[in-house]
Amino acid sequence: MAGDSNVKVGTPEEAVARIAYLASDVVVSVQPSLATDSEFSSHLKRFVNRKDQSLVAKSADAVPEIHSVRHNADPLLSVFAPIRAGRLVSVTTTSSILLSSIAHLYRLASLPVVLHVALAPKSFPDYSAITSIRNSGWTFLQSESLQEAQDMALTAHALAIRSGKGVIHFFDPTSSASNVPISPEDTTVVRDILNLDNVRRFQAASIAGSGIYADDGRVALAPEQVESPPVGSRLGGVSASEVESAASKATSHTSSKTSQQSVTSSPPSVSTATTIEPAAPVVTSEHIYNYVTSIWSSLNELVGRQYNAFEWTGSAKAENCLFIFGSNTALFSEAISQAQGDDSFANAGILTARLYRPWLGAKLLEAIPKSVRRIAVLEQVSRKTTKWGPLLIDVLTSIKSSVGGVETIVGHQLGYISRDTVTQALRGIFQNLTSEKPIQNLEVGESKPPQQTSEYGLEKPKIETAYTKILDQLFGDRAFIANSLESDNAGISDTISASPAFGFGALLARKERKQKFIAEVKEAAGSGRFLTETPKRSLAKWVASNEDAKKAEQAAEDVVSKLTIDNSRLSKTLLENKQFFRKQSLWLVGSDAWSYDLGNSGVHHVLASGENVNLLIIDSTPYSERAAADANRRKKDIGLYAMNFGNAYVASTAVYSSYTQVLQAMDEADKFNGPSIVLAYLPYFGEHDSALTVLQETKKAVDLGYWPLYRWNPENENKGEPNFSLDSERIKKELKEFLDRDNKLTQLMRKDPQFGAVLSQDFGTEIRAQQKRKAKDAYNQLLEGLFGAPLTILFGSDGGNAQSLAKRLGTRGRTRGLKTTVMAMEDYPVEDLPTEENIVLITATAGQGEFPQNAKPFWDAIKDSTELDLASVKYSVMALGDSHYWPRKEDKIYYNKPGKDLDRVLSNFGAKKLTDIGLGDDQDADGYQAGYKEWESRLWEALGVANIEGLPEEPPPITNEDIKLASNYLRGTIVEGLNDKSTGAISASDGQLTKFHGTYMQDDRDIRDERKAQGLEPAYSFMIRCRLPGGVSTAKQWVQMDDISNELGNETMKLTTRQTFQFHGIVKGKLKPAMQAINRSLMTTIAACGDVNRNVMCSPLPSQSKYHREVYACSQKISDHLLPATTAYHEIWLTDDDNKKTQVAGDAVQDFEPLYGPTYLPRKFKISIAIPPHNDVDVYAHDIGLIAIKGADGHLAGFNLLAGGGMGATHNNKKTYPQVGRMFGFVKTSEVHIACEKIMLVQRDHGDRKDRKHARLKYTIDDMSVEVFKSKVEGLWGQQFEAPRAFHFDSNIDTMGWTKDETGLHHFTFFIENGRIEDTAEFQMKTGLREIAKIHKGEFRLTPNQHLILSNVADEDLPALKTLMAKYKLDNIQFSGMRLSSSACVAFPTCGLAMAESERYLPVLITKVESCLEENGLRQDSIVMRMTGCPNGCARPWLAEIAFVGKAFGAYNMYLGGGYHGQRLNKLYRSSIKEAEILEILKPMFKRYAAERDEGEKFGDWTIRAGIIKATTEGRDFHEGVAEEESDEE
Ligand code: SF4
Repeated sequence: MAGDSNVKVGTPEEAVARIAYLASDVVVSVQPSLATDSEFSSHLKRFVNRKDQSLVAKSADAVPEIHSVRHNADPLLSVFAPIRAGRLVSVTTTSSILLSSIAHLYRLASLPVVLHVALAPKSFPDYSAITSIRNSGWTFLQSESLQEAQDMALTAHALAIRSGKGVIHFFDPTSSASNVPISPEDTTVVRDILNLDNVRRFQAASIAGSGIYADDGRVALAPEQVESPPVGSRLGGVSASEVESAASKATSHTSSKTSQQSVTSSPPSVSTATTIEPAAPVVTSEHIYNYVTSIWSSLNELVGRQYNAFEWTGSAKAENCLFIFGSNTALFSEAISQAQGDDSFANAGILTARLYRPWLGAKLLEAIPKSVRRIAVLEQVSRKTTKWGPLLIDVLTSIKSSVGGVETIVGHQLGYISRDTVTQALRGIFQNLTSEKPIQNLEVGESKPPQQTSEYGLEKPKIETAYTKILDQLFGDRAFIANSLESDNAGISDTISASPAFGFGALLARKERKQKFIAEVKEAAGSGRFLTETPKRSLAKWVASNEDAKKAEQAAEDVVSKLTIDNSRLSKTLLENKQFFRKQSLWLVGSDAWSYDLGNSGVHHVLASGENVNLLIIDSTPYSERAAADANRRKKDIGLYAMNFGNAYVASTAVYSSYTQVLQAMDEADKFNGPSIVLAYLPYFGEHDSALTVLQETKKAVDLGYWPLYRWNPENENKGEPNFSLDSERIKKELKEFLDRDNKLTQLMRKDPQFGAVLSQDFGTEIRAQQKRKAKDAYNQLLEGLFGAPLTILFGSDGGNAQSLAKRLGTRGRTRGLKTTVMAMEDYPVEDLPTEENIVLITATAGQGEFPQNAKPFWDAIKDSTELDLASVKYSVMALGDSHYWPRKEDKIYYNKPGKDLDRVLSNFGAKKLTDIGLGDDQDADGYQAGYKEWESRLWEALGVANIEGLPEEPPPITNEDIKLASNYLRGTIVEGLNDKSTGAISASDGQLTKFHGTYMQDDRDIRDERKAQGLEPAYSFMIRCRLPGGVSTAKQWVQMDDISNELGNETMKLTTRQTFQFHGIVKGKLKPAMQAINRSLMTTIAACGDVNRNVMCSPLPSQSKYHREVYACSQKISDHLLPATTAYHEIWLTDDDNKKTQVAGDAVQDFEPLYGPTYLPRKFKISIAIPPHNDVDVYAHDIGLIAIKGADGHLAGFNLLAGGGMGATHNNKKTYPQVGRMFGFVKTSEVHIACEKIMLVQRDHGDRKDRKHARLKYTIDDMSVEVFKSKVEGLWGQQFEAPRAFHFDSNIDTMGWTKDETGLHHFTFFIENGRIEDTAEFQMKTGLREIAKIHKGEFRLTPNQHLILSNVADEDLPALKTLMAKYKLDNIQFSGMRLSSSACVAFPTCGLAMAESERYLPVLITKVESCLEENGLRQDSIVMRMTGCPNGCARPWLAEIAFVGKAFGAYNMYLGGGYHGQRLNKLYRSSIKEAEILEILKPMFKRYAAERDEGEKFGDWTIRAGIIKATTEGRDFHEGVAEEESDEE
């Protein structure tokens, strides 16, 4: 194997793994869990990663497939498909799986599979795992040392191939623990022994099989010529001919004795009985013996090590011998060899079975020296099923029936023996053996090893508990999970008690017990044995209602209290079983392993029983692996099976897709009077997968219809309701067919016609290829009539630049008389490439030198192609990138990498360059334009169309300003777009306009690729943001918002950094209802986004409610004052479709925007109000920041006004920067909205409307200077700013927990991590808050740090609220100081600008640094850490003490040195670092901070004092003196 020249092999598992790898096409690696390696799999993975090749593969460079399977997921099932396909399969496993795989073992025995079995438990293996399967028809080989493990592994493979039958190679791994490491196998020897001719013969013939569970009647047949050992070779002193004759004698001898001794002892197959096979004989034990001796003989010749069917060690004159079937043979052998002459066991011999099955009695006789009189058989078998040990019976039958000198054979049970106890054990054995009346079955050694280490536990993956937790929440004590691991099944092993079959039995027993109890109760009710009268009535009532959960619950309470009062003997007896008074919700948990053999599975049993039992089946196959898993194992659809059965409630659910649907399904299942099957999707690759992986896999599966969400209730029919409800949008073909058959689909579509369109696009239709073809052909037809040379322009675009360049190039080409075609690379049929004449590729650079999404399929198709011949094609590439994006020298290769890759590959295929690659660099003064212009002129030159006269003038590109102007005050064609049912999207220009209405179009990026692959448009949906000045909402509004998110959105809400509600996942059809619902709750969304004044923020100040009211009123006043005046919002969203009266079309209405004018503002405009000492709104970060100033009378006097703060920036563009607001001066309360207006107007007229990256107020002020800008404002206003008044800030975070305000009302600040309001199985925060809102009389305040305050709680209302808070764990604020001070923006999956994860990742990152904070005593310290997915800066990262801003997937820029109370910007510390580097940087830094900080010194201040980072004084020096200078060297 590669790189193994100096390696030594240290463990038998490694030796075995190496051989298995070399000798297999597929290795099934049985593991404790997918995330935990076995002793074999760690090696196998290493070989695969190195791409080591197998010796048996058909193609020279093939690497074997390693198929990892969990030990409790029916692992041998994975063997059938590949072995039947003519691939050599081996399995590496411990013995723990053997017994439960017995059915498979019988079927696999006639196939050349090799099982390498490490005996378990490791501390003291139980050999009964082997003896109990000894008659399954396999050949068994045993190895007892490291070297033997290598040799027997090889023998096993060679023997399987030669005999065509299964071979089990077993060994106790600890027996060889003290062996010296051995040399790795010699591959030449391996190749010789395996015999590649035999290998090819097997691989050439795939085995037809009817199915895994049907016996296909296959029996292994011997090749025409029975092999004999090479002529002249001697086997352990016996000549080849002697072997032949001995072998035949052995067979005739043994076969007449017992069928157990033949390999063909597997159950007779149908075909053996009925088919006449005149040619080759069935493989017999004789054949096996001949093959194995031939293999060993060759091995001996090649490596000089000899093996025999039975191994004898010791004197040839021994009288006594031990036949050991257990660990420690070496230990016994050593003790015997060191024995003194007077020791009873001196000179004893030892026998072991190398070839355990077929059992060749005659060979045993040959192996035993004639001198032997007594044999002690030692069996290490813990689980005894027969009186006599299996080996003892084998030995007895072989020896007693023969004529020989053996007089005594005594069986012993071998316990744990150590070096210290071996002599003592030997003495005991020999004393017994040589006594007159030896005791059979004497135990020797300790029955238990000193320390029993636990082996593969039946531990369920943590994530899998999600569903059982829900059961617990829903039904509490009523839930009874019959086969849960925690259930108490005394004396029954975990493996059995956790099995569904056991669980089902337990459920039935429990039901019977309940029936008996009911009978007892009935009898009791009629008896006179109570002391009081009342129990009788209660009991009778209970009997009548015990089947109805709700009634039973009430009746149960009554009965229990009456019985307790009665206190008679009878009462006490009944109370002993009081759990039966309540209706139990009986559940059985199964896995998708059942779906492979439905007819024999627990599913079938439950359905057929008709019992009122609920089955929860968890399917964990990841969507991305479904194809591979299904092909191998032929999974069936349990849902369909159950629906076809007819009598069951069936639901298909996925907790990571819809939590509420799971609740609904489980509740319905519980109520259904009959069997219920709830299928639950929980896909994961490894048990330690993060919730994010599970979520992403779930989304793909549900969205594309692989795992549809539905509920089927046969009882609905009686109520006149449809049986079937679809809870997701797409279904797969089989389900559609089922519904079609019953007309259910028509009913469904009639009921909800919108489903029609999606339902007809079922999962699995491969339409992408045809689509591409059709589009291209249509385009070609269009071009038909044109003259000129053809030019195909393909683009790969990320942010849109490459696409618009390509389109413009296309237009320019056409004006030059070329036949141009422009398309995204992904839409281009690659097979057409060789037929192109001229082709141009324009590509952007994504992430770390990757191709943009819409170019990936094209690149994947060509990069490894071996067939493309582009000799007649001319091409050129234009690459767009940023030479500083990855500033480290070693990362320079990423600059324009996709373009360069394309250029190289096309040239390799023989294409000729039209002109050299063009390189556009964002760092150039003109951006990529400089490189582009130069390349374009070269291109026209090369195409001979450079100097064309009279080219028409090009229309300028449409800008946002054009869109606003042409929109007729924000109307555009939004209404038409909403009515277009053919797409989930709206047009790009309407997309800009809807922002002004508070909604953005987005698409789910988690499933973007998957949908593309299916030929579907992206999963478009809308984000809606409310306008909520100061973040104050009533309790009623909270409930209304909660309803909207459940009914119209994605079941979650986000509390944003601008103190408002945001909904995600609202599909186009639900957009208008959602807007109307928001308006009904007396909120609006107008101007929540767009180039207007956005939601006005205000410190929530729970500690001073009266003062808060005064300041908050100003935020409302400013918000109202600056609202756009257009009536478009009302027309579009709030009128009914048929309300023609208020519906105003097109230009009919002339709106007027007194403040904004028809083009509104150049860019967004943000205002916030801070109430010192709290700077929780980050007052410096907004276009206008107002600092409330309290007058001497304790009332609001006015505000200090800051202007020109702003967060947005662009990576590597030094012209952009975050900025802090500059002080303009003091304004009185009555004037504040006017001052804000005037600042907005100056910005309206002077802001940059050409370059949106330079359009914010901060740039206008910086370009104009504060003085000039301020004077313009004062000029418009007619007043002057007063001198600023004194104020003081001490932090910008929220204080969690309870506060009491000056009026005596209470306020509680909840910790809502990153503002996400959602329910999970672990934490029902959303439900909890809803319950609280239902009874809360005060208000809610959303905080600027995305948390939530329960405000204005009176003393008398406290207890009820506290109870609810405790019930839903909402009173928990015990988090680290860093977590409490953290904040992240949304980013993936919905934000279109996100370059990296944020909201879903920051909590994970914090968890990883918390232990380090703890170690350094910093757990309670507030360190402000923020993260955003891009430099747009929604979570105001630039003011944090530590910030991470997304650069590419998994990579972040790190910033340090922000001021603790938001007064100072931070600065770039490291570029593009990933998690490992982040942790490497942070950990030592925290340590230093803990040791070096001054009293009360904050982290941000310390990083500056310690010289780690320079202070940023204001935005314009943000890029100065960064810690990591970008390297300019190429
Ligand atoms: S900061 Fe960027 S990634 Fe995060 S939500 Fe805002 S725009 Fe999206």
